[in-house]
Amino acid sequence: MLILLRSDASAADRARVAALIAELGFEVRHIPGRQRDALAVVGNDGRLDAARFTALSGVEEVVHLTKPYRMVAREWRPEPTVVAIPGGISIGGKAVLVVAGPCSVESEEQIFRTARAVQAAGARALRAGAFKPRTSPYAFQGLGAAGLALLAAVRKETGLAIVTEAMDEAGLELVAEVADVVQIGARNMQNFALLKRAGRAGKPVLLKRGPHATLTDLLLSAEYVLSEGNPNVILCERGIRSFDSTTRNLLDVNAIPAVKSLSHLPIMADPSHGTGKRALVPAMARAAVAAGADGLLIEVHADPEAALSDGAQSLYPEQFASLMDELRAIARAVGREIA
Ligand code: PEP
Ligand code: MN
Repeated sequence: MLILLRSDASAADRARVAALIAELGFEVRHIPGRQRDALAVVGNDGRLDAARFTALSGVEEVVHLTKPYRMVAREWRPEPTVVAIPGGISIGGKAVLVVAGPCSVESEEQIFRTARAVQAAGARALRAGAFKPRTSPYAFQGLGAAGLALLAAVRKETGLAIVTEAMDEAGLELVAEVADVVQIGARNMQNFALLKRAGRAGKPVLLKRGPHATLTDLLLSAEYVLSEGNPNVILCERGIRSFDSTTRNLLDVNAIPAVKSLSHLPIMADPSHGTGKRALVPAMARAAVAAGADGLLIEVHADPEAALSDGAQSLYPEQFASLMDELRAIARAVGREIA
């Protein structure tokens, strides 16, 4: 970290900054300049809070030389994290993991039909929400605990791994009892209390990028989970808000190679929420695999027209099956395979 002083900073200002650096346990290097001086902090491993310095008199700007996160950073751990998921699958290695299913668990018939359809097409994990974060309080909120029980029954019968969302701290334990992977949704990406709890839940965490979050924000949120002792975090790009209302969100395909260069954690893409439109999902799923995604999260419904949430972006089972064939070809072309 470099602390640039203002040109009118006094000797006392500079001494104060140097003293704080030393007090925090780091070495100080003075860098005199023609217009203004700078102080370098030596030994920062990414855990130093820049705000401590920007608050001091005489400080113009703090320049980060080290990323503000540490445990998730590739510079501190070059080898990729491979997250093992019960059911003999994993994400982060050569194989691209496709997780599919309806937005919500709606009924026994709906979840079993959809699970069988995605499994027949080659998906290894089922994603469906029992607790749903809905923009409107009048929209379907999910079946709650009854939905979790149905997911447990699906796993027992099909062997599919179960990915499902925990919306709050109170519900996390309940969800973690059933889920093989606990999803933290986009709206909760910066629910720091929930992230800490997820760090102690003992299950892999699928952390979705918030609609307004920078990649630094996303990685700092992941850092919360890791710093509580849970190294098994899977990131997910699900589209950010843009000015163009043609699509529901803007799937940030840049995020895939960018996150890979910044972090060792696996990254998935969710072209369903990233587009909001069924017709656009296959193209963006192919693009994500071509860009290096470690996994895909795709909404599929046995009867999308009757879906209680996100029907417009849910693929028909036949559409999903042909997409899987295309994905196998794309994966092969980029030296990967579909799990
Ligand atoms: C979902 O996965 O169904 C969902 C609600 O996604 P997000 O949190 O990305 O909006
Ligand atoms: Mn959804």
